[in-house]
Amino acid sequence: ELEVALKVVIVGNGGVGKSSMIQRYCKGTFTKDYKKTIGVDFLERQIEVDGEDVRLMLWDTAGQEEFDAITKAYYRGAQACVLAFSTTDRDSFEAAHSWKLKVENECGEIPTVIVQNKIDLLEQSVVNPEEAELLARALGCRLVRTSVKEDVNVSAVFRHLAQRCLAE
Ligand code: GDP
Ligand code: MG
Repeated sequence: ELEVALKVVIVGNGGVGKSSMIQRYCKGTFTKDYKKTIGVDFLERQIEVDGEDVRLMLWDTAGQEEFDAITKAYYRGAQACVLAFSTTDRDSFEAAHSWKLKVENECGEIPTVIVQNKIDLLEQSVVNPEEAELLARALGCRLVRTSVKEDVNVSAVFRHLAQRCLAE
């Protein structure tokens, strides 16, 4: 039986929880100071979607997003995208649109989920719910609110992307 392998890129400003999300989903752990594993470009996890085995390869950036220096190799061949911003970081929300364009430039139109992470910090929120919905609608993507810390909705993000890719 054929196994589907999907390269997924995770983009968004530094500090929104991208590395934590990959670590949470692939290793089931959460730490306050996650450091990228040296020499590893991605972590993977295998899931079953509609009776099909899907191998998700989640590509992490090594912090280059701060310097607008993500390489073409990072985007090359990506079939799906997670575009993340943080509930407590207004700049990361404002930057979502330009991240979408960046991915489109490198990969064309690929299934993308907008992730509002750190919803466990809702009392410190700097993004109101309507704005987040409007953003997702403007970008033509589903919005998923997550807490990587408390493991809320993380699996749903990747399951949705895998389903979208299989349906194409
Ligand atoms: P990246 O720069 O986008 O890769 O972000 P990191 O994964 O390095 O996370 C930045 C900081 O946010 C770390 O201290 C994480 O522990 C923290 N963090 C990540 N996700 C969450 C979350 O859902 N809730 C809270 N409270 N903190 C989080
Ligand atoms: Mg990181």
